[in-house]
Amino acid sequence: EAVVNRIAAGEIIHRPANALKELIENSLDAGATLIHITLKEGGLKWLQIRDNGSGIRPGDLPLLCERFATSKLRDFDDLSAMTTFGFRGEALASISFVSASMSVVTKTKQDPLAYKAFYTSGALAPPKPGQSSEPKPCAGSDGTILTAEDLFYNVPQRRRALKSAAEEYNRALDIAAKYALHYGSRGVGFVCKKSGSNATDLSTPSSSATQTMDTIRLLHGTSVARELVHLEPKRNAPLGFTVAGYISGANWSAKRTTFLCFINHRLVDCSALKRSFETLYSAMLPKGGHPWIYLSLEIDPAKVDVNVHPTKREVHFLNEDEIVETVCTYAQDALAGANS
Ligand code: ADP
Ligand code: MG
Repeated sequence: EAVVNRIAAGEIIHRPANALKELIENSLDAGATLIHITLKEGGLKWLQIRDNGSGIRPGDLPLLCERFATSKLRDFDDLSAMTTFGFRGEALASISFVSASMSVVTKTKQDPLAYKAFYTSGALAPPKPGQSSEPKPCAGSDGTILTAEDLFYNVPQRRRALKSAAEEYNRALDIAAKYALHYGSRGVGFVCKKSGSNATDLSTPSSSATQTMDTIRLLHGTSVARELVHLEPKRNAPLGFTVAGYISGANWSAKRTTFLCFINHRLVDCSALKRSFETLYSAMLPKGGHPWIYLSLEIDPAKVDVNVHPTKREVHFLNEDEIVETVCTYAQDALAGANS
């Protein structure tokens, strides 16, 4: 059974970057305003995330890594509601299955002390052989520090399928940078540190309108930032959605499309939307040129269907064709407005 669990876990958590995405979403769900990430060997050796969110009650620690243990799923409707990011209670369980050691130090506002607990294979584990696996009180500030060491040490086929540590680092940083871009203007700061080097500020939180552009300039460079057209927030009442974002104009062209899409503040893949934008720009850009797109859509949660499998970020929603077409029309209008 242990092997089956490990293989299943390796399918949910298949590389450091997707472990990191799950952990970032947990920190955001916990209301964190500062998220600090440290990676060693691209996160394979050491993946740590520290947040100043709600923390976890000591009483909840024993079952934290139990499969399907979640504090977020209240009834079946929540599955489609996507009001929080977590939906299955499988991320921490899976991480504890595929790492040599996973630890949590956490403190809530109500508790006077922090608690530290270790996990392996879905359950509490002793820090050292022979010791008790009971969570131990310790010093610590409000929030949670989660550390996973030696990811996939026990899933060799998974480990072999991965790229170099440098490539895994880039992928993890890319996920953190996308969240930093979207959440910077929502008051959440992100710092990412490659062990042995200095910390990189991905965003400094602020709620000013210039924040998003500042973060884009920082993370994607001034050359693209100055060619971006602002898609002002626009609500479409009949279709029940709001869209906003930044999209490149006719003077920007890259070898590959950059497409950042958040739906209800969750980083997702929406291939229907991406394809429509590629079509829109292929008519506008020189042959072989591709756009830079950042979109934030808010859709009535009841109308969004998140694929229930946690590794699939692809989402679908009701009236998808109409919404995609309308978003493209808004984009076209914004581009035309910027040109005149
Ligand atoms: P899910 O997010 O689907 O609920 P996870 O396995 O990702 O499942 O997390 C399990 C539970 O652990 C969450 O429901 C939450 O209660 C708690 N948790 C995880 N990370 C944090 C965190 N950074 N801060 C506070 N609580 C957390
Ligand atoms: Mg989660």
